[in-house]
Amino acid sequence: MNNTIKLLLKQGIGGPSEPIVKAGDTVKKGTLLAVPKGLGSNLHSSVYGTIAEITENCITIHADDNQPDEFEKISCNGSIADIVKEAGIIGMGGAGFPSNVKLETDLSGGVIIANGVECEPLLKHNIRQITENPEVIYRGILYAMKAANAKRGILAIKRKNAEAVNSFKAVIKPHDNIEIAELEDLYPMGEERAIVREVLGELLKTDQLPSAAGAVILNVETLSRITEAVELHKPVVSKNITVVGKLKSGKDSKTFLDVPIGASVSSLIEMAGGIDGEFGEIIMGGPFTGHSTTLDSPITKTSGGIIATMEFLKAKGKLGLLVCACGANEDRLREIAEKMNGDVVAVERCKQAVESRGALKCENPGNCPGQAEKIMKLKKAGAESLLISNCSDCTNTVMCVAPKLKMPVYHCTDHVMRTVGHRLIRRLP
Ligand code: SF4
Ligand code: SF4
Repeated sequence: MNNTIKLLLKQGIGGPSEPIVKAGDTVKKGTLLAVPKGLGSNLHSSVYGTIAEITENCITIHADDNQPDEFEKISCNGSIADIVKEAGIIGMGGAGFPSNVKLETDLSGGVIIANGVECEPLLKHNIRQITENPEVIYRGILYAMKAANAKRGILAIKRKNAEAVNSFKAVIKPHDNIEIAELEDLYPMGEERAIVREVLGELLKTDQLPSAAGAVILNVETLSRITEAVELHKPVVSKNITVVGKLKSGKDSKTFLDVPIGASVSSLIEMAGGIDGEFGEIIMGGPFTGHSTTLDSPITKTSGGIIATMEFLKAKGKLGLLVCACGANEDRLREIAEKMNGDVVAVERCKQAVESRGALKCENPGNCPGQAEKIMKLKKAGAESLLISNCSDCTNTVMCVAPKLKMPVYHCTDHVMRTVGHRLIRRLP
């Protein structure tokens, strides 16, 4: 790990937090550095060191060589939601929404769902945590149930992760009312409304929150941080991460627990063995929804994966983009198209992908309405091949049509999947 730690002032949803320290200050692990102005979260130092610089969007810390395990505790003794707020906990599965706001929901006997679905391919840190340390997640569910006045707790997890399922089963105490819902291995099973549909049998509208079905959903790592905040008065200073891709150490995913927030992407890649030769791009996040990043970018409270990919394949002919609500968005597809030297001539959205609160949402995540009409439109507009970001089920419906029209299909995850020799999200053209 190198000695420079960069803590972004905006770590999740909401505006950037406001620094309360200055350059030259010495800090401990856990020292409060910045506070939100409105919606947002407290930001704490993830290391012992000295503040080197403060800019508009980042606090840079020069970390000491010696990093003791001890940390500065949060002082709050209020409700569970107050402690969670003080600890700076936000949705660590990628959403970045302040968890205290979710816990302030009065579910009046509803359910807390722990999201252990980890539906992005190749990411494995959530499953490792459930397997190795189910107890801390279990207690997090109990704290969340208490805070949001829920009667039941459910761990949502893919059935294929049998070891993690068994590990969690072993810590369940019958009187606590916590159970496991085992889900199919499909993308996007981890999407909140997909979870509500699969676990509670209710299909929410695109603008409804899980609370409309009497549920609050929290990622498993978020729940473990809630346990740490309540029991140890520990602020969020570290993140669990998967590193995978074109690495000297091989194609298997490497997971790291409790990496200091603000550590650089390059330091994580070095920990995983280093990049093996030339590469296409570095992705922060998962293959479907991640974005390209740089080696000196820092990890945040919402970073889940770091992926070093092979070089891009070159696109054949003029490209039509088919945008899904659950995968790469239009900007990301355009970026991939450019990296493939592709000429984008038309863009269509899946007809179930609708605008909701400034983002695209799927009306029924993962249940495809069929894509023939959109593909015909793209062809009519001059597209000779397709670049798509659809989920598992929906890519199959694309594959029912496109080959008949002699249109090769590329998927936004192709370069990632090929890098590690993983089955492609759709059949080959
Ligand atoms: S699609 Fe959503 S739920 Fe699934 S892994 Fe990615 S961030 Fe998590
Ligand atoms: S139905 Fe459309 S928006 Fe929904 S997951 Fe499938 S491709 Fe994406």
